[in-house]
Amino acid sequence: MELYTESLTRYKRLPTREVKIGDLSLGNFNPIRVQTMTTTDTMDTLATVEQSIRCIEAGAEMVRITAPSKKEAENLKVIRDELRRRGYNTPLIADIHFTPNAAEIAARLIEKVRVNPGNYVDKKKFELIEYSDADYAEEIDRIRERFTPLVKICKEYGTAMRIGTNHGSLSDRIMSRYGDTAMGMVESAMEFLRIARYENYHNIVLSMKSSNPQVMVQAYRLLVNLMNSEFGEAYPLHLGVTEAGDGEDGRIKSAIGIGTLLEDGIGDTIRVSLTEDPEFEIPVCRDLVKRYSIPAAEPAVSPGETTALPYDPFHYQRRVTDPVDNIGGRQVPVVIADLSKVENILPADLQSIGYVYDEPTDKWTIRDAAADYIITGHQVLSFNLPGTLKVLVYPAAWALAEDKTKYFPLFQDSGFAMSDIKSPLVNFVMVDAGTVYDADGSADTYPYWGQLADPTVVICLSSTATNAMQVCRNVFAEFIRRQVKSPVVLMTDSALATPDEHLIHFATETGALLLDGFGDGICLGYSSGATLENIKSTGRTYLDVKDIYQFTNNTAFSILQATRTRISKTEYISCPSCGRTLFDLQETTAKIRAVTNHLKGIKIAIMGCIVNGPGEMADADFGYVGSGTGKITLYKGRDVMKRNVNSEVAVEELIRLLKENEAWIEPATL
Ligand code: SF4
Repeated sequence: MELYTESLTRYKRLPTREVKIGDLSLGNFNPIRVQTMTTTDTMDTLATVEQSIRCIEAGAEMVRITAPSKKEAENLKVIRDELRRRGYNTPLIADIHFTPNAAEIAARLIEKVRVNPGNYVDKKKFELIEYSDADYAEEIDRIRERFTPLVKICKEYGTAMRIGTNHGSLSDRIMSRYGDTAMGMVESAMEFLRIARYENYHNIVLSMKSSNPQVMVQAYRLLVNLMNSEFGEAYPLHLGVTEAGDGEDGRIKSAIGIGTLLEDGIGDTIRVSLTEDPEFEIPVCRDLVKRYSIPAAEPAVSPGETTALPYDPFHYQRRVTDPVDNIGGRQVPVVIADLSKVENILPADLQSIGYVYDEPTDKWTIRDAAADYIITGHQVLSFNLPGTLKVLVYPAAWALAEDKTKYFPLFQDSGFAMSDIKSPLVNFVMVDAGTVYDADGSADTYPYWGQLADPTVVICLSSTATNAMQVCRNVFAEFIRRQVKSPVVLMTDSALATPDEHLIHFATETGALLLDGFGDGICLGYSSGATLENIKSTGRTYLDVKDIYQFTNNTAFSILQATRTRISKTEYISCPSCGRTLFDLQETTAKIRAVTNHLKGIKIAIMGCIVNGPGEMADADFGYVGSGTGKITLYKGRDVMKRNVNSEVAVEELIRLLKENEAWIEPATL
């Protein structure tokens, strides 16, 4: 398997063409630009101008505004002029779906237009039609005829364009030939890109968005490969996860999708789509981007160079491991909570990691997001453990533990190699990925390969390098080459400050590996300098969380959920809202969450409009979609189940729909 980027073993950005958006340069090693999209009605000039200003002042370098029809496209000029009058020259982008005439107006007025190749020419009918090669070629001619005028206008006016594919809105033509796949997304954009190149128009940015980070990452990688092989060059890429949702889940999903690609060196501009006011997206973008301020010419510490991959980065396949107890093999990744900084652990301390103890009845209640293991360091606990929980302790404490079916030793690799006393069941062995390589970048001299292959070993892999993810990924490639089949727990520490920075760090470092099929468990923690107090004192503003352990445990489960490696809760796919939105999306999302968040494994889409909502809710099981003022249409998969329900009763109707389809369970009371 060939490399699709040089950033597999060290951070190195993918070279791309330079594109001009007004005065802003994008691609070709320019800084990674951050952008967002307004949620106001485009015809409400004042509200749109003021919201744009809030975004610009938060740090947005481009602002996208929806232009559903000609009148909104024309109003973009009024908005632009008012922004200029107030001293803001930030480039504006018209967001177009279905309406070539609106695109052609906007392309004459503002700096950039975004078209969706899934619906620019085609009206989606959700029909699977068999296209012969001749039919297909005829369709491409039809696209050429409709799309070329826009290309010519952009060329004449110096306007940039984004060809933005969405996983959820592929045309019937693409679906019939490629299905709902990453390759279908790539081909959807390539059809339009080839037409633009034929016209010698290159001021183009591309995107491959999906609400599923795995599909999104594969699509961008495939696109890079195809552009390089077909054209010998790549166009700049705009990264985003669509319909990510709100709060921590939205941030984690975005960080995993966007962060994985940025780690690959792919991405020239990003948008984090959250179901929150757009200015709140910008700090998350900045936290993501600032991790990659390493100059392109200055690679971070590099272990051995990988010249070819022993795994397929374009298709998810979990690394093959031999199970050790409940870790590895085909079992879902485990969550390990590090409580080693808590002195004298009591039953009440386990509440934050999903175990609730009731003293009068002497019973434990175990929640869905309950950690599977805890690290207690030197402590053997003085109470009986809840049924499913097991403990990792340092070897000296393990020797004292009575129940050796519940307590397991946690060794360093050198300590494990030297120890005479080992568990016959499970031994956790810590490996610093950086130490696997010698100064020449060779892993041949690492002395513990034999021990790591022991059938009782679970490897706890970490790295303190600045390019930790790449170093760990390279070690995984080494495990595959050397046929080390021991399961691996990803151990990631954060030395950062704010909760958002922790989230982004954890999600990027571990999510990027999980998306490549690497990791049979996850353990998040804080670097040794960080005490519980200074982690807490950074202050959380968007959640009332009792303590850092609950935050860390929830983050671990959310990362596994977002990478779809372990489903422990309801998933929400909610659009970020825009000028088309027909109801208060934030309030409605909160209302729906409050009554459905116990429905483990169900995916519910909450979409602002009927125009794009049904197409973009991707693989949701149920959909709640605005279909007119005060009206909601409810979906099961792609099928309309209840049309134009009054919004006041729509949440109850959604619950009724879930019940009718046996997707509802009564919430448990704790
Ligand atoms: S689905 Fe949401 S973000 Fe997309 S166009 Fe409709 S209202 Fe706007």
